[in-house]
Amino acid sequence: MAAKDVDRTTPPPLPAPLAVAVADSHTHLDMQSGTPAESLAKAASVGVDTVVQVGCDLPSSRWAAELAAEYEQVHAAVALHPNEAPRLVLGDGDGWSGQRRTPGGSSALDEALAEIDRLAALPQVRAVGETGLDYFRTGPEGVDIQKESFRRHIEIAKRHGKALVIHDRDAHEDVIALLLAEGAPERTVFHCYSGDAEMAKTCAEHGWYLSFAGPVTFKANQPLRDALAVTPLDRVLVETDAPFLTPHPYRGRPNAPYLIPVTLRAMALSLGLGEDELATAVAANTARAFGYGQV
Ligand SMILES: [Zn+2]
Ligand SMILES: [Zn+2]
Repeated sequence: MAAKDVDRTTPPPLPAPLAVAVADSHTHLDMQSGTPAESLAKAASVGVDTVVQVGCDLPSSRWAAELAAEYEQVHAAVALHPNEAPRLVLGDGDGWSGQRRTPGGSSALDEALAEIDRLAALPQVRAVGETGLDYFRTGPEGVDIQKESFRRHIEIAKRHGKALVIHDRDAHEDVIALLLAEGAPERTVFHCYSGDAEMAKTCAEHGWYLSFAGPVTFKANQPLRDALAVTPLDRVLVETDAPFLTPHPYRGRPNAPYLIPVTLRAMALSLGLGEDELATAVAANTARAFGYGQV
């Protein structure tokens, strides 16, 4: 039993390096152990030469922007996570009820979004996200606030010409309906894609990017691999969402960007493609989706 506990906290071993370098299109270095410099060096040693650092609230969005200013290989995404927006407005269940308002009358959500807007203008901030809808963690009382926050993030992304990074948990239909109603930004990424093949086809029709994370490697998730199979090769991205969603066979242990090769190899196998071919496509797609590099 003790051995199992140790195993759960032990970082998985370094995978064999990729011959063609790719980006981790979605990670949270601020939630992982070790310094960013260590994480980036470890990732680069196995051919993960770029990461998109994603903010979920104001402090982590500011941190992402600062990290991306410091490191050329880091790009930032800034937003209030769909589970964060209702917390700002409704509180944490710490006694608040009703909407929090400042003496000036603007809401806590307005104030936080003004700061996201300011950060989104920075050149090293390549995307607005993760935003979207999460009906798994937030109950019905938060739905309207999530939708309002999502709409406002879409507007910010479009006004600054940045990519939009979507978090969609148990909310596929509403996410797509809201995107279509508002008009999706030119570059829209579904992070940790969790829909089926039918939804993937809809996303493809609109030119949206689908980013696949560790769950695509789990044996039970054949529908996710079916979705990958119908996604145009020029719209496929890969991510860790680390420290979460560690790929098979390391499920339950700490995730980090250096594990991207594990997921990418499983995807290549499932698609019947060589890993270099898939990595070449993914590298170009990530640069195009987030608007960096030569592609
Ligand atoms: Zn997410
Ligand atoms: Zn995330």
